[in-house]
Amino acid sequence: MEREHVESDLDLEQTLFTEEQIVDRLREMAAEIDADYEGRDILLVGVLKGAVMVMADLARALPRHVEMDWMAVSSYGSGTKSSGVVRILKDLDTDIAGRHVLIVEDIIDTGLTLSWLVANLRSRHPASVEIATLLRKPDALQMEVDVKYVGFDIPNAFVVGYGLDFSEKYRNLRCIGTLAEHVYR
Ligand code: 5GP
Repeated sequence: MEREHVESDLDLEQTLFTEEQIVDRLREMAAEIDADYEGRDILLVGVLKGAVMVMADLARALPRHVEMDWMAVSSYGSGTKSSGVVRILKDLDTDIAGRHVLIVEDIIDTGLTLSWLVANLRSRHPASVEIATLLRKPDALQMEVDVKYVGFDIPNAFVVGYGLDFSEKYRNLRCIGTLAEHVYR
């Protein structure tokens, strides 16, 4: 859906990135990734459900064969605060030993989910593990995990759209927008 389809929705405050801006940035990231991984096969690992749109557009922007696999983890309950407690809801179908794994994320907030995920994947002896995220919040800069590809750094607001939800709503919004603070506080 487009922004105008929920125009009367007062919870949605401001458009941060249009669909065009997002796709343009993902194309740039794909070109960088393609060059960096020359001569190496990539296994893209998407984190459900938020990274579905990023995965779809990033994967299609890559001018080469890639494999895709998915993990589902829970870090947020029904609220909007990361708990640091991560549970695997769906594990990979692929054995990643010896593979070049590129984790595809929608957003890094505290980075707790991601540092857990990287440690978990590293324990399976891949050839390499790197991270590509569309969005990163300032808090994430304090974490120890090295994020190789970042689409946009954004302010510390709660954002929705392009795969990102609030209580399972807004995932199918084409743009990315901020949610009014009264909704999630
Ligand atoms: P972290 O562990 O980095 O704090 O949280 C990562 C996960 O929290 C993301 O994959 C996403 O599911 C959720 N999250 C963090 N910030 C936001 C946000 O601004 N909007 C939405 N919709 N989800 C977020």
